[in-house]
Amino acid sequence: MEIRYHYSLKRHNTFGMDVSCTCFAGYRSAEELVEFFASGRQYDLPRPFLHIGSGSNLLFTKDFPGTVFHSDIRFIRELPEKDGKIRIETGAGTVWDDVCEWCAVHGLWGAENLSGIPGEAGAAAVQNIGAYGAEFKDIVSEVHCFDAVTCSIRTIKKDECRYGYRDSVFKQSAKGRYIVTSVILEFSPEAGPKLDYGQVEAEVKKVMDGIPGTPLTPRIVRSVILDIRGSRLPDPAETGNAGSFFKNPVVPKPFYDKVANYARSKYGPDYPVPHFDAGSGFVKIPAAWLIEQCGWKGYSEGNVGVYLKQPLVLVNATGKARPEEILALEKKITASVQDIMGITLVPEVEHI
Ligand SMILES: Cc1cc2nc3c(=O)[nH]c(=O)nc-3n(C[C@H](O)[C@H](O)[C@H](O)COP(=O)(O)OP(=O)(O)OC[C@H]3O[C@@H](n4cnc5c(N)ncnc54)[C@H](O)[C@@H]3O)c2cc1C
Repeated sequence: MEIRYHYSLKRHNTFGMDVSCTCFAGYRSAEELVEFFASGRQYDLPRPFLHIGSGSNLLFTKDFPGTVFHSDIRFIRELPEKDGKIRIETGAGTVWDDVCEWCAVHGLWGAENLSGIPGEAGAAAVQNIGAYGAEFKDIVSEVHCFDAVTCSIRTIKKDECRYGYRDSVFKQSAKGRYIVTSVILEFSPEAGPKLDYGQVEAEVKKVMDGIPGTPLTPRIVRSVILDIRGSRLPDPAETGNAGSFFKNPVVPKPFYDKVANYARSKYGPDYPVPHFDAGSGFVKIPAAWLIEQCGWKGYSEGNVGVYLKQPLVLVNATGKARPEEILALEKKITASVQDIMGITLVPEVEHI
């Protein structure tokens, strides 16, 4: 375990918050983790403990007073086929998009729609990342974890992960207990593309029309997804951000009708009010739409702002933003959506 004291976390969070931790502990294998905890050396480290990936879903609100752990377990390897499924294992510290690229290059269908999502494979298993109609849970078979209670490596089957929308057992009842060390992904040899989300099908068609006679491959879909993402989302390497800052609120249908009536009374009877059926009489309203309706799209103030092309993304516009500035903007947006729409926005980004 490589341990550093009073360590800057600026490179370890995509928002680019210039904060530090008292202690930073990096490790390269699951065995190293087990050996470290079994020897009792964790008692020498300051608490609380926090495990991070690449910090792309985190907002550090201040210096972290304890120990931040980070996995440098990086590998992708093929496993023997099982039940007719092609299987691979990837280390938790592997860059997630490297996994998607590997799958696309090897002709495996299933990870291509998840291309370009920042972060590491271990966090993908915690977050149940999703995009363009696909979710991590669609391709995972099992998750290998260090169990802090038994001080051993444990296999958690997909069903035990209790995956939901950007949710898992690792974020709920087992939070703090498990450190993901690797994940097993499985792919069906006959699986095909999932194009029925947003503009994906139309963009894929444009590409295919330009290369007649060429069969559609995961590589082609991956490149379309990367292009779509690139045109809509800020690259954290250039503009600090943590992706979608707020969750999409789910409200009872009659409440949605009230919001829709409000918007149509203001802008006309044909004004589009986007929503998705969330089942059991509930409707999901895109938080981006609510934020835009309340006038925040493209807003900027000091070092922070709301991304012009996607109002769900708050940005560290100058690279010099302090946590208080992001928090102040979050508070203003939440208050205005509450006042105007009567809806309480809840942050998607984890505040540390
Ligand atoms: C520009 C941009 C676009 C994005 N687009 C999407 C998108 O389309 N879809 C989507 O789902 N998300 C998206 N995100 C959010 C983010 O990329 C994901 O949530 C990602 O999985 C976070 O990975 P990370 O490695 O950065 O984890 P972190 O943000 O560092 O951590 C996330 C959580 O996982 C825990 N964790 C991390 N590693 C481990 C481990 N090894 N063991 C146990 N717990 C661990 C942390 O404690 C924390 O609770 C986007 C973010 C950005 C900046």
